[in-house]
Amino acid sequence: MPSLVHTARELFAATEAYRTRGERVGLVPTMGALHEGHMSLVEAVRAAGAKRVVLSIFVNPLQFAAHEDLSKYPRTFEEDLARCRAHGVDLVYAPDAAAMYPAGFQTHVEVEQVTRTLEGAARPTHFRGVTTVVAKLFNATGPCVAAFGQKDYQQWRTLERMVRDLDMPIEVLGCPIVRESDGLAQSSRNRYLSPDERSRATAIYRGLSAASAAYAHGERKSAVLVALATQQIAPAFDSIDYVTIVCADDLTERQIEAGEDAQMLVAARIGKTRLIDNARLGQVLVLR
Ligand code: AMP
Repeated sequence: MPSLVHTARELFAATEAYRTRGERVGLVPTMGALHEGHMSLVEAVRAAGAKRVVLSIFVNPLQFAAHEDLSKYPRTFEEDLARCRAHGVDLVYAPDAAAMYPAGFQTHVEVEQVTRTLEGAARPTHFRGVTTVVAKLFNATGPCVAAFGQKDYQQWRTLERMVRDLDMPIEVLGCPIVRESDGLAQSSRNRYLSPDERSRATAIYRGLSAASAAYAHGERKSAVLVALATQQIAPAFDSIDYVTIVCADDLTERQIEAGEDAQMLVAARIGKTRLIDNARLGQVLVLR
């Protein structure tokens, strides 16, 4: 079993023991309800040289707006621990909200431009919650390397920016999206889907694949690529928040120049569930 700690003080003491022995520490921040997408991040920090892997499980109230799914977010702690054990995680950090944000808490980390659009436009306080909690996790863990999923593309880019801007001595990995065999990106929120919604949800994968294939065959007009994806997604979903193409590096919506990469990003709602996904245009989307 991995060791289990609940406070930043205990976490720092445990990782300090690793560092004293010269063992590189890797961190995988999660909100639990673990799946193979999360566990791919454990493998990634190990492949990047971490001898010890810390996985945090914390459903972070700061990144949920009042009307969002904080109280019903899936919590599967015992199963999560079993998965961590199966993947050789050394230490699980599972603080409660009062330990993370004690009375009087009033300090936040905010990344500006890259958080204003897309998810940041739909969820205005979301990224400030993410960057604040990840900064705290970095301080309490002291990792050499930390892994994030490209599933949350804007989040990964935001955290890269934070680490660069604040001179945090941490290597940030952006790991490929782990998909189900029918293309749906793995997500803790997939548990919300009814069987019918679950089968309709693969439309995002089909839309991204259609746009990506067209791009690979030379199509460069954003409107055409977006229409190809939307044709697949619109009939299956109840509403679309966005289907858009941005510069893969800085996430701006502009004409992508030769030599730059284009990323298509999607957010759409099916029943009460909001799903996000994305793909690098021109690349084949990898299935399990
Ligand atoms: P979450 O528990 O949803 O906050 O996710 C924790 C981390 O796992 C984030 O860095 C996510 O981007 C990453 N992640 C979630 N789903 C996937 C997936 N299907 N493939 C790769 N990484 C993922």
